[in-house]
Amino acid sequence: MNQPHPINAFSRTLLLSLSVLLSACAEQSTADDAAVSAIISKPAVLSSSTSQTTVQAPEAEQPAISFAEWRDQFRSEALSQGISAQTFDLAFAGVTPDPSVLRADTSQPEFTRPVWEYLESATSASRVRNGLSKLQQEQTSLASIQQQYGVQSAYLVAIWGMESSYGQFMGTQSVIRSLATLAYAGRRQQFAHTQLLAALGILQNGDIAAQNMRGSWAGAMGQTQFIPTTYNSHAVDFDGDGRRDIWNSSADALASAAHYLQASGWQTGMPWGFEVKLGSNFDYANADPDSRHTLAQWQTLGVQISDPVSQLANQPASLILPAGHRGPAFLVLGNFRAILKYNNSTSYALAVGLLGDRLQGREGVRAAWPLDEKPLSRSQRIALQDALSARGFNPGPADGIIGANTRKAVRAFQQSLGWPADGHPTLQLLQQLQ
Ligand code: CA
Repeated sequence: MNQPHPINAFSRTLLLSLSVLLSACAEQSTADDAAVSAIISKPAVLSSSTSQTTVQAPEAEQPAISFAEWRDQFRSEALSQGISAQTFDLAFAGVTPDPSVLRADTSQPEFTRPVWEYLESATSASRVRNGLSKLQQEQTSLASIQQQYGVQSAYLVAIWGMESSYGQFMGTQSVIRSLATLAYAGRRQQFAHTQLLAALGILQNGDIAAQNMRGSWAGAMGQTQFIPTTYNSHAVDFDGDGRRDIWNSSADALASAAHYLQASGWQTGMPWGFEVKLGSNFDYANADPDSRHTLAQWQTLGVQISDPVSQLANQPASLILPAGHRGPAFLVLGNFRAILKYNNSTSYALAVGLLGDRLQGREGVRAAWPLDEKPLSRSQRIALQDALSARGFNPGPADGIIGANTRKAVRAFQQSLGWPADGHPTLQLLQQLQ
């Protein structure tokens, strides 16, 4: 996979102009450094009007050195790790920190879309229509990919649709510039540093030219939106042209995604999960994404499976309620967990599963969503965590992120009220706490 690729002859010409570019970028670099400092030193302050607390977004460390100094240090390190001077200098020609990347890195959206709106757009009529025509167009490669990696084509195409609208939107930012910005001044500098070294390795292999290595502001690349380390470990050359090209070759992109899902534990022919109904006396405390039972056990706990498949009876499954007890319920299996390794978001994995189902002609979600409920804003989530702490429940740090600890605390508070203990925070619950 990681075969060295001869550096093309045109690089000589580029190198000649490099010294000019580098001196030109020195001035620009100072201006960008100032813009970067301004972004970093301006904390996103959010006041919670109800609890009177002020919460500051996690700040990036203020860089102690200029971008040019950082680049020179990083260059020595890259060279000591086998990146050639030529690869490095070509990749970094004219690169300055990108203030838009830092803005994206430090922004923390106040409002979140309800999960049903997200799922509706993920499985929209046009998304399904385009997916069906991609299944047709790519049917030959998809058949051999399914044969080789064991991932059903519909779910692979669903991932493709979610990641880049089937290769239409891959991000237009320079991956080297974005990652250099984040490694220099972002919130997760060590992560970006590792990704940047991996990206230079990809360039050195000759899979893609630096100017064509485009992606999202966070460095997710190509039709599969792989970060560079995932690319290095899992991208494959499926069309046989000698390059792993997840930007321009759909076959390479689809096979690379399939290879990654296979490595994440995808089980051939198995469903990701399915919608279920819950009996009226169902104990919602069981609906925790971290607790797993076999389908047979779930049935004894009161989960109604409309179309039980005996080969699945012993599969470990979790019950998820994306909108709490008033919304639809799903039992999710090993393939759902494989999708989560691609992108660790329950809504995302659900979107991939439902889109894949639709691409096979299955129905969408049957149960109604609680459309009258508005998701808590970030400040409300923080207020919720503060109030839970004040009452002696332990929701973890008040970071506005509803993780396992916060769900557990919400559940304990719901139980103390005798409410359905689904761990799902609502405005009503917040008001009750306050
Ligand atoms: Ca290829």
